[in-house]
Amino acid sequence: MEASLNDCIFCKIASGEIPAKIVAETELSVAFWDISPRQPLHVLVIPKSHYGNVAELAFSDPDSLIDLVQLGSRVALDHSTGSFRLSFNTGSEAGQTVFHAHGHITSRTPKAASGD
Ligand code: AMP
Ligand code: ZN
Repeated sequence: MEASLNDCIFCKIASGEIPAKIVAETELSVAFWDISPRQPLHVLVIPKSHYGNVAELAFSDPDSLIDLVQLGSRVALDHSTGSFRLSFNTGSEAGQTVFHAHGHITSRTPKAASGD
């Protein structure tokens, strides 16, 4: 895992230490607007516990991965017409830049303008 827990930006968002535009959360997961959206709808969904990527999350805490997918799906269905993508960049060569597991919920067909 590339970032220590102490300087992991998504751990700080999960704990409330740094602000984010939270969309929804559960006991295990948090969904918030991506700071640099690349689609009309772009939300990140993370486990509250630190895992370096989705593979670590899947093998170490599958219940938390299920919760993350359920929360992301609920947000996607609430905020889009129902067509969305859930993707996990895994490893720097695949484009991962934040080494705390996160799924990108993106959609080209949001229900309404969102993110502001
Ligand atoms: P990845 O490239 O898959 O690791 O995705 C990291 C994502 O985190 C990018 O889409 C960034 O725009 C987003 N991001 C980085 N810092 C923040 C932040 N403080 N709040 C919200 N999104 C962030
Ligand atoms: Zn973290």
